[in-house]
Amino acid sequence: MAHKILIVEDESYIVDILDFNLKKEGFETDAAYNGTDGLKKALSGGFDLILLDVMLPGLDGFEVCRRLREKSTTPVIMLTAREEESDKVTGLEIGADDYITKPFSIKELIARVKANLRRQSLTDRAALQSQTVFGDLIIDRDNFEVKKRGETVNLTLREFELLKFLSAQPKKVYSREELLKEVWGYEYAVSADDGRTVDVMIRRLREKIEDNDKQPRYIVTKRGAGYYFDF
Ligand code: CA
Repeated sequence: MAHKILIVEDESYIVDILDFNLKKEGFETDAAYNGTDGLKKALSGGFDLILLDVMLPGLDGFEVCRRLREKSTTPVIMLTAREEESDKVTGLEIGADDYITKPFSIKELIARVKANLRRQSLTDRAALQSQTVFGDLIIDRDNFEVKKRGETVNLTLREFELLKFLSAQPKKVYSREELLKEVWGYEYAVSADDGRTVDVMIRRLREKIEDNDKQPRYIVTKRGAGYYFDF
């Protein structure tokens, strides 16, 4: 089935060039000529990739991308007229996958489109393989889901991140400081209270995933050193 590409661009001659060349490459296309329509079409779904101009009447491309990302992971390539580095960085920070600077060669643009579609299909495949089974515990890394004997366990995002991090390398012991750095993003632990944060989160996690949280099977304490995931 042909990939469907949405072109969001107010300059109609550019839309025409893109439309012509993408179709020639076997893609299906649709176009929107301002940000508001572009966002509406992008959210209506069914597109495999979106080419999004930055300078648009109404909502600009950055705003369209930002709002789109609240609901969708469809690959976005930003078209930026300016050489300014800040535009590229802004685009990537708000969730664009790639950018291309105008004026661009059609050959380069087509190559980028294909590369981004290829990456997306790899990501989709990885998501299918994102579940890891540890006995009666299943951790779905990408979908933020944990199941215990088939029942979904409700974890907070931080509890999930902690479990995901520990279980990525079973039996490796992590100190509280390391966990604060890796899971909480602290540069360095400043007080004993920071260590407590880890202990409390570990306790909550145990209550949710262990049969007996006093004798944990999965999240084990290594005395004087820290914690590890046992499997
Ligand atoms: Ca424009």
